Amino acid sequence: MNRTKQTLLSPGPINVTPAVSRGLTSEEICHREVEFEVLLRGVSGRLLEVAGLDATSHAAVVVTGSGSAANESVLSSVVPRGGRVLVLSNGEFGERLAITSEIFQTTDSIRHGWNERIDLARVEEALSANRYDLIAMVHHETSSGRLNPVEEVAALCEKHGTQLFVDAVSSFSADELNLKAPGIAFMTTSAGKALAAYPGVSVVIGRITAFDALENVRAHSQYLDLHRHYCKLRDKSQTPNTPAVPLFLALDAALVEVLTEGMDVRMARLRHFQRIVRKNLQVAGFTPLLDASEPQSCLLTTAWIPNGVSYDTLKAGLRDEGYIVYGGKGEYDGRVIQVATLGTVDEEVLTRFFIALNKVMLRLHPSSALRSAM
Ligand SMILES: *Cc1c(COP(=O)(O)O)cnc(C)c1O
Repeated sequence: MNRTKQTLLSPGPINVTPAVSRGLTSEEICHREVEFEVLLRGVSGRLLEVAGLDATSHAAVVVTGSGSAANESVLSSVVPRGGRVLVLSNGEFGERLAITSEIFQTTDSIRHGWNERIDLARVEEALSANRYDLIAMVHHETSSGRLNPVEEVAALCEKHGTQLFVDAVSSFSADELNLKAPGIAFMTTSAGKALAAYPGVSVVIGRITAFDALENVRAHSQYLDLHRHYCKLRDKSQTPNTPAVPLFLALDAALVEVLTEGMDVRMARLRHFQRIVRKNLQVAGFTPLLDASEPQSCLLTTAWIPNGVSYDTLKAGLRDEGYIVYGGKGEYDGRVIQVATLGTVDEEVLTRFFIALNKVMLRLHPSSALRSAM
């Protein structure tokens, strides 16, 4: 099929840089040879460097599988039999953590309305009333773009003698997250979102003390057994099963790019893109879901579609112009669009995208396009 390249404005998949795509096919190596061990040690070390962590206190395990595999690895491997988990949710991905945790252990949920702020008083109340082995929450709730208060929850976990697991699948390497905060035991991410590599490998970063404590916990999974992954990494620089080597190579190239750019520069760049997206969506007649004053991810903007415009028609119109945007999940299905600015997206791409969006909107919704032009 001969078609022009699509510009991906979703929070994953994204258009990768040439270095990342070259990485994918740069070497053909056997995963049981020293070349893979060097690669895995490099990836693991660079992940800690991006996280601002030290190998004396933390380790970064790489799991073959998408972000959900890393989440499932934690939720199936950390809690002893008879233990209890508390999940905090305010959107699609928080709810998925609860659904996954329920498979393996007794799970309580503090369920908020979608995009509501996490209610810290309710969290404190639950931690005072029950003894939990693990609290699970999402950092960047990708269904809305909201950033949740990880450090505040971590402080409550520390105070009540429990440990926090943070799903940072869509925010790691883009949104600020202090993983040194006491109380945080594990964090997950995926190669195919903010890290701007390909989907299919994911990461669990954790405190070494938390990994060591898994020795006495029998995991509910063999393939995703977190302690097995950790021991193979620590003792042999290896993975328990066949790793997706080309995806590790591409991830390594992406990590080198993140470190070369530097986290501060990267976050400022993404924040700048987000302001451009937010402003131009408003000009085109869309209303951002989150108030400018709310804590929100720098890599993604979610906005209500103007009344009278169908998401499917809008999406199809943009697709014809070469742009792939994301839609809403759950209660936002058909009502919002999501625009992310990862990988090779830059100001020039955004300028062209908003020309295309305004063109499509003029066709679909002349009154809103006219209003904003006045
Ligand atoms: C995308 C996402 C997931 C699931 O990751 P997959 O790679 O689709 O398995 C989990 N949590 C969050 C916050 C996400 O954005």
